[in-house]
Amino acid sequence: MSEQLLDMTNPRLEAPYDRRALEALMGRFGSPLVMVDCDVVRAQFHALQRALPGVDLHYALKPLPERCVVTALKDIGGFFDLATTGEVELVRRAGVDPRRCIHTHPIKRDGDIRDAIRFGVRTFVVDNPDELGKFVRHRARAEVLLRVSFRNPAAAADLSRKFGCDPESVPAMLDLARRLGVKVVGLSFHVGSQSPDSQMHVQAIEACNELIVAAREAGHPLSVLDIGGGFPVEYQTPQMPIDDFCAPIRTALAALPRGLRLIAEPGRFIVAPAGTSLSTVVGRALRDGVWWFYLDDGLYGSYNGQMYDHADYVIRPLRDDGSRVKAVLAGPTCDSIDVVREGIELPLLEIGDVIVGRTMGAYTSSSATDFNFIRRAKVVAVNEFLASAHDE
Ligand SMILES: *Cc1c(COP(=O)(O)O)cnc(C)c1O
Repeated sequence: MSEQLLDMTNPRLEAPYDRRALEALMGRFGSPLVMVDCDVVRAQFHALQRALPGVDLHYALKPLPERCVVTALKDIGGFFDLATTGEVELVRRAGVDPRRCIHTHPIKRDGDIRDAIRFGVRTFVVDNPDELGKFVRHRARAEVLLRVSFRNPAAAADLSRKFGCDPESVPAMLDLARRLGVKVVGLSFHVGSQSPDSQMHVQAIEACNELIVAAREAGHPLSVLDIGGGFPVEYQTPQMPIDDFCAPIRTALAALPRGLRLIAEPGRFIVAPAGTSLSTVVGRALRDGVWWFYLDDGLYGSYNGQMYDHADYVIRPLRDDGSRVKAVLAGPTCDSIDVVREGIELPLLEIGDVIVGRTMGAYTSSSATDFNFIRRAKVVAVNEFLASAHDE
């Protein structure tokens, strides 16, 4: 069992799986798969906890809303960030304490609010007067954070374009909330996913610091600051270690008024490195001197993150005999846009060969489709399975 998974150019991406174990996994569960390693989920959570001491980490479910992830995080003291009734249901079934959850979708139907309140969630997020108005009837059982927008053109996904109120409108929102009798307990922001550095987080924390001080002077005792997600992981481009990324954030947080409850909403950082995509070559053709290898997973499946999430995954064949041909990796649908990678060199693959995609836990299976009736990858928690495969 000593044969390592892949000849990885980046040793930090290496995982303790070997070929036989992966083949056994696919023999059992089929193809395509996204295998999730909860040891990595726990390690990522602990790494971010060490980098942000004193900050409660609420895992945002949307990048990988899987029971195994929720349970793993629940067991090590994690908190949760919910945005939809489906996510409320998932944590409820996993036995999560609702007091460890917040609901952060800035735009909600009344039914979404009711479902979350019925579960026991108390803290919600709003960013405009109409949304504040929705909480008048729930004001005895709910309190809100005001989401403030700080534009971040550098992030892969600039979430402040769609959500958040201008910092300048915070005092008026606080006054309106008071007139409506809705309790505002703090501020939140999300600077955008896969932030290249922490400057946006720092600027946003500093701006919120001023807003919180001004609010307190105006008689609004805000006690929570939620610094959102955006913590980056390494795809093909090297990324600074999370402790270095968070060092300026720690400094900015230390300058806040004492006694605030600090929250972060990491999604990608917790789960991206825990997920590995396994797909299979189901056909091949030599077209104009280039080998096209057709996979059973593609842009409409796990690799949708290359379009929607702008992610650039490390992709390798499981078996590599050292030969190289000009190659294209294509997805399984009949759509010509469904090409995973082109202009690359690969060994001359055969039908049945396995392709491995690294760091594919976040925004992959969760946003995949069954377009063309091609079933999306099955998500498999591998820890116990691999442990038993190693013992054989
Ligand atoms: C998607 C989302 C997150 C998670 O963001 P990451 O960049 O994946 O860490 C956190 N909070 C909210 C409100 C989100 O919509």
